[in-house]
Amino acid sequence: MNSEKFRVKPGLKLNLSKFNTSFSEGIDSKKKAKTLLKKNVKKMIELQSKLYAQDNYSLLIIFQAMDAAGKDGTIKHVMSGLNPQGTQVTSFKQPSSTELDHGYLWRINNALPERGRIGIFNRSHYEEVLVVRVHDLIQSEKIPNRFKNKQIWKQRYKQINDFEKYLYENGTIVIKFFLHISKEEQKKRFLERIDNASKNWKFSLADIEERKYWDEYMKTYEEAITATNKKHAPWFIIPSDKKWFARLAVSGIIVEAMKKLKPEYPVMNKSRSDELLKAKQFLQKENQI
Ligand code: ATP
Ligand code: MG
Repeated sequence: MNSEKFRVKPGLKLNLSKFNTSFSEGIDSKKKAKTLLKKNVKKMIELQSKLYAQDNYSLLIIFQAMDAAGKDGTIKHVMSGLNPQGTQVTSFKQPSSTELDHGYLWRINNALPERGRIGIFNRSHYEEVLVVRVHDLIQSEKIPNRFKNKQIWKQRYKQINDFEKYLYENGTIVIKFFLHISKEEQKKRFLERIDNASKNWKFSLADIEERKYWDEYMKTYEEAITATNKKHAPWFIIPSDKKWFARLAVSGIIVEAMKKLKPEYPVMNKSRSDELLKAKQFLQKENQI
């Protein structure tokens, strides 16, 4: 998997309508994609084990998307098999009243992965420059009025960039995915959720309301992604009309990012290996008594 293909080019002004959301890179069958996904998951398991033992770096994986783009399914399939102790998933919903009593990064900070772990954000601080902007929710946030001006989005991009740089410089690697589906594919998936009894629970009338804002969302995503696409915290646009391809692409990009960290099991120094030897001798003697 060449992750560069999906990486937003630095400095590029993004145009989401130009992306082919049903692209599948020559992989023509679900079966083949599933086999390759399995291989990637196996690699992730090995790398995670080292990441955990090394206890220096952590990985933060952010998922953003329109409704029904497949965030939940991607998280489920790509992360399956990882050690649950080394993984933490957080879904961000409308902020609670306690959360609104703090700055928007407060709840994000509280959910960051510990060293050695993989943190997954299902939605994230990016909602603060997406849904909040599209629906002008800034009015209901409790920040002082004098900060609720036209500059606020630019200021927030800067705050987010500074925050992610801080994370990077302290050992948290951030990778950001936008699961990109077409408006047509969203309609298909909504209809499926309505027609299929086992999927009814996933459907909410609010999703239809939100769909009306599709074009505004695309514009807002384009601006936010362009403004926050940094070398230390890159954005990847994943063609997601074919779920199986999106899962494969995401897994490949995560494996590449983890490989770059070159995680290794800690090397024992002399006194530690002496200690282990002593413990071994002690245990062996125990049998002889
Ligand atoms: P699903 O695929 O299950 O629908 P979801 O992520 O859309 O997953 P929901 O419970 O449907 O989950 O929706 C969560 C809602 O919370 C989204 O509409 C999202 O835009 C909203 N939300 C998240 N963060 C914020 C925020 N900071 N301010 C306002 N709304 C937010
Ligand atoms: Mg939803």
